[in-house]
Amino acid sequence: MKKGRIFSGIQPTGVIHLGNYVGAIQQWVKLMHDYDCIYCIVDYHAMTLEYEVQTLRDNIREAAITLLACGLDPEHCTLFVQSRVPEHTELTWIFNCLSPIGDLERMTQFKEKSQQHREDINMGLLGYPVLQAADILIYKAGFVPVGEDQVQHVELTRRIARRFNNRFGETFPEPQEVLTPTSRIMGTDGKTKMSKSLNNYIGILESPEAIWEKLRTSVTDERRIRRTDPGDPGVCNLFTMHKVFSSPEDIARINRECRTAEIGCVECKKILFNNMMAHLEPIQQKARQLRDNPDAVLSALDEGAGRCKKMAEQVMQEVRAKTGIRQTVPTV
Ligand code: SF4
Repeated sequence: MKKGRIFSGIQPTGVIHLGNYVGAIQQWVKLMHDYDCIYCIVDYHAMTLEYEVQTLRDNIREAAITLLACGLDPEHCTLFVQSRVPEHTELTWIFNCLSPIGDLERMTQFKEKSQQHREDINMGLLGYPVLQAADILIYKAGFVPVGEDQVQHVELTRRIARRFNNRFGETFPEPQEVLTPTSRIMGTDGKTKMSKSLNNYIGILESPEAIWEKLRTSVTDERRIRRTDPGDPGVCNLFTMHKVFSSPEDIARINRECRTAEIGCVECKKILFNNMMAHLEPIQQKARQLRDNPDAVLSALDEGAGRCKKMAEQVMQEVRAKTGIRQTVPTV
């Protein structure tokens, strides 16, 4: 018996990096056995920033391959591409009409993105969390696994659900966030969140050479200027990665020897690299197999879209009836 329904999405940005993997995908894989999990490649969301058409197509396919390679199993969860279920955007319009602009302008992500993309602050960027609310509520999902930076968007989803229910009658649940229990992996600069746009990421399907080069040049505890300087693993992003990929023995040793400068950062990074690659190599191998078998990927996505389409149509029928749209003209 599953505990409830979960919805979560990932943007097809072209690379799934360690931040996505540790912050979301690892947890998605665990949750699929206990919950009715719907996982979505959110291509509508990817349109909020300028993009190349062919690149978006390729990125959607790569995202699906990577997610399946990471362990999402279509037998135990639903994986689909958002635009295969256009009811997401229909519900978004209705939610737009219930969303004060001030609420959207206060979203931290909107403020950050509009700073980063001053030349293209479009409506999609502002309405991004409304589309997220529609993504979640069109399946009446009760739980949303998120990192702390997305809690604000789940709160907004609850407010939208409440407004809809107050105005049109009880329809949507108020979903709860399921917080990712692991520490947040920062970028290779050690300071900002790992992200493709900041070019501080390590892609989980990158070659071992590329991964080593990125680890080798990653920022550590900046007080370790000389090999003999003691450091503090508590402030080092590489140690956070050890906590994900290394054995308890390696973690204990590094925690001890970094503080006394018995271990240098290069040696510490080599241990991390070996442990990380032992973890990533099977994923990379599965991704290669899936690339050679595109029909398996398409069939998983088709099946997922079929299931979601049925659920979304049903909810939209209820929403249309309650909001007074698309009703047939009564005959006299
Ligand atoms: Fe970070 Fe390891 Fe260097 Fe310590 S030894 S500062 S944990 S990279």
